[in-house]
Amino acid sequence: MSTPSSPLPDPGDPAERARWLRDQIWFHNERYYNDDDPVISDGQYDALMRELRDLEAAHPELRSAGSPTQIIGGSASDRFPQVQHPIPMLSLANAFSRDDLEAWHRRVTDLLDGQPFSMVAELKIDGLAVRLVYRDGAFVLGATRGNGQTGEDVTNNLREVRSIPRQLVGNFPPELEVRGEVYLPLESFERMNEERARNGETLYANPRNTGAGTIRQLDPEVVRDRNMEIWVYSLNDTGDVPMPAGHWEALARLRSYGFRVNEANRVFDTIDEVCDYYDRMLEQRHDWSYEADGLVVKVDSLTQQNALGFAGREPRWAIAYKFPAERAVTHLLGIDINVGRTGILTPQAILQPVIVSGATVRHASLHNEGDIHRKDIRVGDMVEIERAGDVIPQILAPIHYRWRQYFPVFQMPDHCPECRTRVIRSERTVKLKGQEQTNITHRCPNSACPAQFFESLKHFVARNAMDIDGLGEKWCRILIDHKLVSDVSDLYSLTCEQLTALGRMGDKLATRILANIEASKRRPLARILFALGIQHVGAEVAELLAGRYASIDDIAVAPAEEFKEIDGVGYEIARSINEYFANEGNQKTIAGLRDAGVQLWQELAPVDESAQPWKGRTFVVTGALSSMTRREAESKIKALGGTTSSSVSSRTYRLVAGVSPGSKRVTAERLGIVVWDEDEFLYFLQAPFVVDNEVNEKDPETPSETSAFGQELTQGSFLIGFL
Ligand code: NAD
Repeated sequence: MSTPSSPLPDPGDPAERARWLRDQIWFHNERYYNDDDPVISDGQYDALMRELRDLEAAHPELRSAGSPTQIIGGSASDRFPQVQHPIPMLSLANAFSRDDLEAWHRRVTDLLDGQPFSMVAELKIDGLAVRLVYRDGAFVLGATRGNGQTGEDVTNNLREVRSIPRQLVGNFPPELEVRGEVYLPLESFERMNEERARNGETLYANPRNTGAGTIRQLDPEVVRDRNMEIWVYSLNDTGDVPMPAGHWEALARLRSYGFRVNEANRVFDTIDEVCDYYDRMLEQRHDWSYEADGLVVKVDSLTQQNALGFAGREPRWAIAYKFPAERAVTHLLGIDINVGRTGILTPQAILQPVIVSGATVRHASLHNEGDIHRKDIRVGDMVEIERAGDVIPQILAPIHYRWRQYFPVFQMPDHCPECRTRVIRSERTVKLKGQEQTNITHRCPNSACPAQFFESLKHFVARNAMDIDGLGEKWCRILIDHKLVSDVSDLYSLTCEQLTALGRMGDKLATRILANIEASKRRPLARILFALGIQHVGAEVAELLAGRYASIDDIAVAPAEEFKEIDGVGYEIARSINEYFANEGNQKTIAGLRDAGVQLWQELAPVDESAQPWKGRTFVVTGALSSMTRREAESKIKALGGTTSSSVSSRTYRLVAGVSPGSKRVTAERLGIVVWDEDEFLYFLQAPFVVDNEVNEKDPETPSETSAFGQELTQGSFLIGFL
């Protein structure tokens, strides 16, 4: 196979240019689909493909059945058993502008002899296409697209994607095939990369390819650890299922079987409506927990879809209307070094401010020295940057001007820029995709380094940790500089005189800060755990630990094996918790907090039956709640004796549904399970009455309730709770 560095063709010779483009595209297909490791951006790839298409359209003699414009780019690797797709898994034509989309709409109108048609607009999820097969409602096969005809059997890995139902619910047919996009949520991707940056490892390039690589590797546990998800977007007509009239109805059916179907999908009659929807989605794209690179617009009626058929590898009845890439080129003015909580030195790019998709970007992540050298980024370069979602902007690559060779190659400093301690440089060789790779980290070993402590203190007082309002970044810095605080526990011995003596702080603010410090002594256990800044223990893991243990002391002595029994806590986290509590400095901090009166334990839910009103009841929490995280909601349910589950079944007692509850709400409603919105949930947390499902199903408006505490409730008292 030729590489992208194959000689440039004679620009005047279309045949030579087409050959060169095909070589390039095959090379990039291999990197993208088979290695899950692309070396150019999707925009650059799309430009190559567009040029080849245009060339083949202008010179029909250059068309061939073997051209990448006619063939799906991937293949099925021999790491997995191969699976034939009875219905080929194809590609989509692309529209890059409103003009392109309107041209598609006109073509479809012509082909349908002017018949009106509705369109379903869906988000085009940037993940890995999979086909799922169900027999008698049980998930029996999951396969990748591969080359469209033959894919890889990745059933075992897909079983670890929680949102792929193992058993369907409702009125499902005996044989069923669906398609969907499996993806790596942005949060998981960022977490993985943060860890790689800390270890000096090369970062994963993007969630799409990392997610695809996760499904195409051999260890199902890795899939489970990465919290992969799916959006299901089509019901296959295998001849075994009576098909609905349209795609929109098919999606509703899929939802009713328990599949996760995106709530953002809409149906429209006109292309103007589709374009308005596109604009709205484009604006919202950073609010989602996954990446979507555009819309897929599909003719709704299946009869009309059949009449339109396919052209080569693409259906005529659908088109991908791509979002514009969020990139910009700017000047790299300098490279700053940040010292993190654990002493790791991280370079950060200082950029000539530039606007990328509505936001001014001044800084970009550079992660570590290895990444900078791999991309050969030098101060003075013009660089291409990309902003994806809430992810910190990244430098993709420098623009290669001839004179940049005179810019010095970047080198990490020998001494910590904060405390001047000599930096420890460590190299670790790891194998990545069969190739050896050296990861380099730079760490300031001085645990008293003010920069490290500054980061820890900022984290400790933050709103989602100990929530010490008024003690922002500026005051953290001043307290450290004045040597008033050198351990987080010192906060609790600060006095009003000390604070006002700082000059810039008045009585009022000092009193407020001290009151907030005092109030922080009673934060829930999960918050304290998070505030300690234990590596890998984020807010979610802290909630999980607090759901299991009654105190910091219990966690400090628990063996790693015990942590691993908690769903969501893996080996790395368990090891990190043990390491944290084994460290003498950390033990001193905990002792200091205890002496200061910080509550390092929690009241466990009382075990007496009457105080466990939800004992034996299973709850499912779905969607986003505004007053707490899902984990917090689950902990509260458990504190009242209930258990929680991730899927709705006839055994579910209540579904607690926040915003965008997805298919679980549909499933619950179909099974006659009562759905609580957030207000209702908060109400029942205060007054955890038990309502019999059967009674509720008969007449949900007039619940006959028996309080777990033995009170008789009237309908009036129930309603008052909601007023
Ligand atoms: P496509 O753009 O032709 O679209 C088809 C795919 O869209 C389906 O297989 C499915 O996986 C996905 N999809 C997501 N949401 C969907 C929905 N709601 N309904 C239907 N399908 C949905 O996909 P493709 O042929 O896999 O890839 C082409 C794109 O991949 C290119 O445009 C480019 O962006 C990228 N690519 C990049 C490189 C690179 O080197 N950077 C190489 C190859 C491909």
